[in-house]
Amino acid sequence: MADADTLPPLRDVIADLGLSAKKSFGQNFLLDFNLTRRIARASGKIDGYTVIEIGPGPGGLTRALFMEGAEQVVVVESDPRFEPVLSAISDTYPGRLQVLMGDALKTPLQSHIDGRCVIIANLPYNVATALLINWLKTEPWPPWFERMTLMFQKEVAARIVAEPGQKAYGRLSVLCNFRCHTETLFDINPKAFTPPPKVTSTLVEFIPKTLPPDAPEIGALETVTRAAFSQRRKMLRSSLKTIFPQPLDILKLAEIEPDWRAEQVDLAGYCRLALLLDNK
Ligand code: SAM
Repeated sequence: MADADTLPPLRDVIADLGLSAKKSFGQNFLLDFNLTRRIARASGKIDGYTVIEIGPGPGGLTRALFMEGAEQVVVVESDPRFEPVLSAISDTYPGRLQVLMGDALKTPLQSHIDGRCVIIANLPYNVATALLINWLKTEPWPPWFERMTLMFQKEVAARIVAEPGQKAYGRLSVLCNFRCHTETLFDINPKAFTPPPKVTSTLVEFIPKTLPPDAPEIGALETVTRAAFSQRRKMLRSSLKTIFPQPLDILKLAEIEPDWRAEQVDLAGYCRLALLLDNK
């Protein structure tokens, strides 16, 4: 493992190019290699792996991934101002960095991967949840990546790992924990970023689950959780009317009390409802 690389310090890289952070691109940079290397290490074994990183910006995390032993790194960056910086990193690690310039939401990734793969990213907050949902909806499952280690705003991280009965429990919790084991790893203070965002960030780990053969389609689970949580104060016998003509019969079959609210139903309960939607 390398102690450092031969590239200039990140503050100099940004200053030399006159790069200012753009809010529209969700840009908050991590310039401290102690922290970016800690993120790389927290994601588990990357030695010999291909790492996908979304939004490398000036490349602090990208360089840390190489320092921590990543074999190949594939980055997707939508702000063209970073292309020269990323090319310089590529020159330092010949044949090991693929730079894809464009919107990660529209960039197919699987074709760029050879061998075992993980996704590690300090995500742009404006598209973080959309990217996560896309990855969770990957077919077939288990997916082409072995793990994801992703940074979110702390309140989004709380929604991801929330359990039934908690205030943060919702659609995102059900969809994430249907397909992955999720765990928060550590918080990152706003002061660690340049410029500092208004909120604390949290690193979250996702390990894909092997689903049982009788698991519902994720699309059906999306439909039932959307119906239930979009009217989360209502009882399910009322909120589920939008998708089931006879919600009382369905709730009985799913062994769920008709006067429960969305936040009281656990993942297994939502899976039973989704299977009943499939078979309706
Ligand atoms: N990884 C860098 C770091 O940790 O310092 C930068 C992280 S910054 C929070 C998010 C990065 O994602 C920015 O470089 C931004 O330009 C980029 N970005 C924003 N929207 C994007 C999108 N739709 N696709 C790809 N990259 C995007």
